[in-house]
Amino acid sequence: LIELRGVNKFYGQLHVLQDIDLTVGRGEVVVVIGPSGSGKSTLCRTMNRLETTQSGSILIDGSPLPEEGRALAKLRAEVGMVFQSFNLFAHKTVLANVSLAQIKVRGRKKEEADRRSRELLERVGLAAHADKFPAQMSGGQQQRVAIARALAMDPKALLFDEPTSALDPEMINEVLEVMRQLAREGMTMVVVTHEMGFARSAANRVVFMADGRIVEDRTPEAFFTAPESDRAKDFLSKIL
Ligand code: ATP
Ligand code: MG
Repeated sequence: LIELRGVNKFYGQLHVLQDIDLTVGRGEVVVVIGPSGSGKSTLCRTMNRLETTQSGSILIDGSPLPEEGRALAKLRAEVGMVFQSFNLFAHKTVLANVSLAQIKVRGRKKEEADRRSRELLERVGLAAHADKFPAQMSGGQQQRVAIARALAMDPKALLFDEPTSALDPEMINEVLEVMRQLAREGMTMVVVTHEMGFARSAANRVVFMADGRIVEDRTPEAFFTAPESDRAKDFLSKIL
């Protein structure tokens, strides 16, 4: 579903993505881990052109990623992204936050969008909170709204960049549980996270990055029980 071939990206002299080859199949859950600064966020952002690249190709569902314009907006709707900071509109209700892009990007009527929004809020356990404002909700609840908002675009895949890093410990699980549920339902997901429990239980593959390269790309069992590279061994010894 998502294919990167020989992707390279530089920030000035800094070679942040080095010859990245990565294929994410339909329904697969790929967890990306690695030290700070290794290029995980950049990789994620590259997959829906929030970042430009200097070489290589990126295919979504067999089609090259569009450079700009309407086609790019459509693609961004199909490959949704959930960030560490929830990026909700503070002055809009939860319902309006989930409905907005459906109306603007998908061209749905307000009633139809709101109906779909309520379904999705129900799915992430927030049916009773539709009329609240983001500031009236916990971080975990706000992140679940952000997930509902991404789902409202009927994405083919979802990218998550450290979706639980800004949350207090007791809220991490409610967000991970929604993500596990999506994984069980067959959503294609790329997840940058430090939650190794999630990686072990929900991932089909673990991609380990260091210095802008993919150093390992293996099943969670193989990666966690017998990492091959020194970089991965060193990383795991620090976090496990
Ligand atoms: P973290 O775990 O801290 O989130 P990361 O693996 O997500 O790290 P990236 O954010 O992808 O790492 O950054 C990769 C490298 O690119 C880092 O060295 C970072 O300093 C650099 N970098 C990121 N964004 C920019 C930018 N806009 N301009 C210049 N350099 C950048
Ligand atoms: Mg990052």
